[in-house]
Amino acid sequence: MGCNTAGISSYEFDVIVVGGGIMGSCTAYETSKRGYSTLLLDQFDFLHNRGSSHGESRTIRVTYPEPYYSSMVLESTKLWEEAQSQLGYKVLYPTNQLDIGQASDRSLQAVIHSCQSNSVDFRVLDHAQVKKEFSGGVVVPEDWIGVVSGGAGVIKPTKAVCMFQTLAFRNGATLKDNMKVIDIRRDVGGCVVVLTATGEKFYGRKCVITAGAWMNKLVKVVTGLDVPILPLETTICYWKVKEEYEKEYSVDGEFPCFAGYGSTYIYGTPSLEYPGLIKVGVHGGRFCNPDKRTWTPEPQLMDFLKKWVKERFGGRVEHHHPVSTQSCMYSLTPDEDYVIDFLGGRFGKDVVIAGEFSGHGFKMGPVIGRVVADLVLHGETKGVELDYFKLARFDNNPKGNIKEFAEQVGTSKL
Ligand SMILES: Cc1cc2nc3c(=O)[nH]c(=O)nc-3n(C[C@H](O)[C@H](O)[C@H](O)COP(=O)(O)OP(=O)(O)OC[C@H]3O[C@@H](n4cnc5c(N)ncnc54)[C@H](O)[C@@H]3O)c2cc1C
Repeated sequence: MGCNTAGISSYEFDVIVVGGGIMGSCTAYETSKRGYSTLLLDQFDFLHNRGSSHGESRTIRVTYPEPYYSSMVLESTKLWEEAQSQLGYKVLYPTNQLDIGQASDRSLQAVIHSCQSNSVDFRVLDHAQVKKEFSGGVVVPEDWIGVVSGGAGVIKPTKAVCMFQTLAFRNGATLKDNMKVIDIRRDVGGCVVVLTATGEKFYGRKCVITAGAWMNKLVKVVTGLDVPILPLETTICYWKVKEEYEKEYSVDGEFPCFAGYGSTYIYGTPSLEYPGLIKVGVHGGRFCNPDKRTWTPEPQLMDFLKKWVKERFGGRVEHHHPVSTQSCMYSLTPDEDYVIDFLGGRFGKDVVIAGEFSGHGFKMGPVIGRVVADLVLHGETKGVELDYFKLARFDNNPKGNIKEFAEQVGTSKL
């Protein structure tokens, strides 16, 4: 590691991680586990509700249309289990996954191919078999299919972030919140200097930026570059299951996590965090300034959801309105693929950015932490196809990676 920080004392670290959501916390855990002195900074209180990693549930599923994500999920699952076993925490509750949609839907067909290429166990059901499998609790039109697979589950996000921060702290990492990073510079000794709004200066040999929906704002200040990221405000919705069916739709009742394919992508979890409530949400929302949000659901999306809940659960879930909602933020790239790359320029390979997890990153936290730690410490990694995540993919094509199936973001389709 190049920079000479001798004598800079408690303000000197091997790695400084900016952003304490799931990605930054997993990265700090990985670098500290490998024996590197690590500082994790966040602009707000740790475990705050203003970014993307808070709340009661996230799904993990192997079923992705893009095979490169499925293989990452398989590694991430092992790392989730490993981290849980270190603290004796349980943050991951295994379930099956049910993906439904028109048989001809190109994304759903791509999911099937991706399962085949990753040797994931799955079954394809026709509409009658779907109804039978879930005893009438899931209903789909005649031209729809259901894909049932294993390896899915519900993750408790706030508890999971807390788990990785606790593990990082146990490994000797320093954690500081309410420290907004206002600039990152290179000093003459070759160090990366991180400046905060509170007037502090931290010196790192290396730095990682995992700033979620604020990534564009911070990178623009540091390099002048515009990274193609759009913060989007979305809403988590909980719906009440009719009393006599509560067990049926719960994790204990072996109800799966689920997703609905089509012009608008729907996702959901069985009841776990709130008894008798299932989570059903739209993968979409409204573009926002992360510092000036409305904190309210978008009416058009709510209407779509109400109809979906009414039609898909055989009248067993109250569909007139969700009983609870919570605001959350995505950070989207045009192709909905992640950005994991070196910042380059005067920072060369000493600063890595990891962001734009496009509404599907939480499950990947542990594998992203591993990959980012490899990149920032050694300049390379194995086991993940990074070409899909490089910023250069936008150089000659603002849309980024080309997909053979429809994009998933719901906003533009409603
Ligand atoms: C409603 C909803 C449902 C989702 N469902 C799923 C799901 O089922 N499965 C799944 O895998 N994923 C899901 N996701 C996506 C997943 O939650 C995100 O991809 C993931 O949480 C992103 O984590 P992050 O660490 O990149 O961002 P964040 O959690 O936002 O963390 C970034 C952190 O950086 C800090 N920060 C920013 N700027 C600065 C600065 N200048 N100085 C210091 N700190 C700074 C912020 O305060 C923040 O704490 C969902 C997201 C939402 C919103």
